[in-house]
Amino acid sequence: MMNPDASATIDPSQRGMLDALATSVGPRTIVTDAELIAPWLTDWRGRYQGRAAVLLQPDSTAEVSSICAAATAHRVPLVPQGGNTSMVGGATPPADGSALILSLRRMNRVRSVDAVAGLAVAEAGVILTDLHAAALAKGRRFPLTLGARGSATVGGLVSTNAGGTQVLRHGTMRGLVAGIEAVLPDGSVHDGLAALKKDNRGYDLKELLVGAEGTLGVITAATLRLAPAVLDRAVAWVGVEAPAAALGLLRLVEGRTEAVESFELMPDDSLAAVLAHLRDARTPLSGRHGWHVLIEAVATAPEDEQPARLLERLLVEAFEQELAQDATIAASEAQAEAFWTLRDSISAAERAQGPATQHDISVPVDAMPDFLLDAAAACKARFPGTHASGFGHLGDGNVHFHVRAPGGVSAERWYADEAPIVTRFVHDLVVAAGGSISAEHGIGQMKRDELARLSSPARMAVLRGVKGALDPHGLLNPGKLLARASPDQ
Ligand code: FAD
Repeated sequence: MMNPDASATIDPSQRGMLDALATSVGPRTIVTDAELIAPWLTDWRGRYQGRAAVLLQPDSTAEVSSICAAATAHRVPLVPQGGNTSMVGGATPPADGSALILSLRRMNRVRSVDAVAGLAVAEAGVILTDLHAAALAKGRRFPLTLGARGSATVGGLVSTNAGGTQVLRHGTMRGLVAGIEAVLPDGSVHDGLAALKKDNRGYDLKELLVGAEGTLGVITAATLRLAPAVLDRAVAWVGVEAPAAALGLLRLVEGRTEAVESFELMPDDSLAAVLAHLRDARTPLSGRHGWHVLIEAVATAPEDEQPARLLERLLVEAFEQELAQDATIAASEAQAEAFWTLRDSISAAERAQGPATQHDISVPVDAMPDFLLDAAAACKARFPGTHASGFGHLGDGNVHFHVRAPGGVSAERWYADEAPIVTRFVHDLVVAAGGSISAEHGIGQMKRDELARLSSPARMAVLRGVKGALDPHGLLNPGKLLARASPDQ
């Protein structure tokens, strides 16, 4: 059933826009049925509730162009939306009902996969798992994956410069996007799909659109770089004493091979939370260790060293250098999956322990060991009774830093009163360590005010200047990334 508070009525500007579109888009493109719109008005975490009277779901670049031109003519804001898995309320329309949702999900064709060139052209609405399957069918791989892969779309992944678990070797979306087709707010089409290795025509619109969170243009398709398919993989679980030892292990691995794709760090209390949360879960190592590392290595060519043998060799060296206390290599694919399940279940397991505030942050890789210990201690001292710890992509200098409420504190009180103060405190620590308050998820509406609070005037001036230049009427995804400008700025 639809939440009655979420309904919105079509205002005169929106009516004018829809009338203008009547002859230029197909009958399925304009959705006004409130029941069909309702699921797309709330963000994935259920923190933000928006309102929108209309959901537009074009199935071609030409339709997106008509929609943007009509929106500009009638000054109607649009909220681009893909799979709606944003962790920062990035794709949720504003609560005042002023904007329409522009869903790209019907643009879901993989236009081409060129296995020889290692390139795929996918429309914005292609779901990540479908892109994986299309690449695999041609013997290649799209080497980015994340927990929301069954819903997240190419347009959303590009617009948030998404990361995931293979960034160590393959980089974020920015490194995987070779070209972009996008519609600008006035309806003009930027046809930049050609994968040019060299292109020095001044400002790079592709780079501006990657990570722009739908505030500068609507991505309709992208040319994406593919990697060779994985022929074999091995996953190791390593017990280490402290984050500094894990960093030493990372540097050892990086110095010896490029075949390692993931290097994930977890404190023992995160593992304990998962073991308590998941039925049938077993600890990979028999003894207790302060911290745990998951390493995945792959072979992508027949002549590559067998990943299990490679990891064995690296772990021998790690023991010699006293970086590892104990280690095991998954003996089967099922065990490898079980190791990953332990890693991937941390967020859910920690949520089950009580209300917690989560921070997606990065600091320089070498600063991470100190940051993890110092920030956890600082949080516990400043907010007695809380529990703080970080886990995640050590190789990327990116962890999810969680601060759990003291026992007995209700979720309502924690989120309303304590969490914002905790978040400001954690973000101050991150900035002091030279880091970023958003490593993967973007800014959306959740971190917008913190971005403004913690960024230099120079950074904010550039962000506002770029926004004003590309979207002078402030119509694309208003209130995300930057505070909403007054009409016509
Ligand atoms: P949406 O949520 O629909 O939109 C995200 C942003 O992109 C919004 O600002 C929206 O306006 C804009 N946008 C969407 N489509 C377009 C378009 N075609 N043109 C212009 N703008 C557009 N993220 C990571 O980086 N790494 C992770 O490991 C990770 N793990 C996750 C795990 C889970 C369980 C969940 C729920 C989310 C996770 N995320 C992660 C966050 C999320 O999946 C990514 O941000 C993803 O890129 C969003 O894709 P989407 O299609 O759902 O985009």
